[in-house]
Amino acid sequence: MARKRKIVKMKPAQKKAVAEKPWKLKLKTLEIHGGGSEKDTDLRPGLYRATAFPLGSFERAKKLFAGEERGFIYTRINNPSVDKLERRLAALEGAEAALATSSGMSAITLLSLHFAAPGGHIVSSNRLYGGVFHLFRENLPKLGIAVKLVENPFDLKLWEKAIRPNTKLFYIETPSNPAIDVFDVEALARLAHLHNIPLIVDSTLATPALLQPLNLGADVVVHSLSKYMGDGEVIGGAILGGQKLIDDLRLVWFRDTGPCISPDNAVVLCYHIESLFGRMAEHCRNTLLVAKYLARHPKIKKVYYPSVGIKSRLNKKLMPKGFGGLMAFEVKGGTRSAKTILENLKLFWHAPNIGEARSLVIHPATTTHGQLTQKERARAGIPDGMIRLSIGREHPQDLIYDLSQALSKI
Ligand code: PLP
Repeated sequence: MARKRKIVKMKPAQKKAVAEKPWKLKLKTLEIHGGGSEKDTDLRPGLYRATAFPLGSFERAKKLFAGEERGFIYTRINNPSVDKLERRLAALEGAEAALATSSGMSAITLLSLHFAAPGGHIVSSNRLYGGVFHLFRENLPKLGIAVKLVENPFDLKLWEKAIRPNTKLFYIETPSNPAIDVFDVEALARLAHLHNIPLIVDSTLATPALLQPLNLGADVVVHSLSKYMGDGEVIGGAILGGQKLIDDLRLVWFRDTGPCISPDNAVVLCYHIESLFGRMAEHCRNTLLVAKYLARHPKIKKVYYPSVGIKSRLNKKLMPKGFGGLMAFEVKGGTRSAKTILENLKLFWHAPNIGEARSLVIHPATTTHGQLTQKERARAGIPDGMIRLSIGREHPQDLIYDLSQALSKI
């Protein structure tokens, strides 16, 4: 017999409170509605392919250029399509504001210049995408910015020891590329703030579907939008943080150096972001299955995925929603074996990207992290036999079959 449902009646005062409390949209909804929707004009994010915008009166032009009034000036500085992307990203990260850039690298360069030029000092994890490692080790010092790469970035005491009077920022990538290290953003932010230093987090591999570093105490989030956000279609980057920081960046280094994103790419990104959460869930599910398979394989020395190994419980606490679609493994037999596997994979594309529908493979030591010396790679946990996989959204059994047949060739 069906049970009678008890109807709980709300008192008038309760009803009023519910009606008055503003409803907060869930993150899943913000991937589609984040940043506001122009209900009366564009159902989809509109493309404003224009170089410049009418300034209006003499006085308004003066105010716009001085940053005293908000408005569109020139696409190198701002643009309505780019603004839509920025507002959506800010909504997803829980940030006051965002600045979209031409690439992840330009976003990181801008932040370095803004915070540390000239004569400043950066303390950074050494577990970084190779391009960022090279920027920090080679090029920022040429501009008068010193960088200390912490060689065991899990040890907070080493971060504290690295601080100098001119330290301007702490920098981490979590999870990191390619070793998928997961860092405790809260603990690092606490330490940074004790010394009045801002913490910048590269959250490219997590995306806001899996982690919101600003809610954990980080001061700034930086993204390469060229990965999951754009589903492999476009290059882009973003900086997220307080309104003042974003305004300052936009009006100084960004305006003067010109690394803007095109309105076309901004619109493409808005479309792809609408499916981000669903795609990330699929990447997480597939990667977990592939990692489990590889962890049991006799020819594999080590699997790099946060759910595997002694840190798995801690990692789950730090990233309870999942770890995304990037993983790596070290094969027995070093570079030779890695080469054989890479050349025998049939379904995986050999390509230098992360976060696409199709699965991708690369050998970090000779490509993405080839600018590091052998010693630097060893200290950053990148052995010669490491292969990085960006797990896509194919059926996981097909991916596992492909890996097993390639592994059988060594
Ligand atoms: N951050 C991470 C974690 C990356 O993996 C990359 C590129 O692979 C970048 C930043 C740089 O981004 P972009 O290629 O968009 O310049």
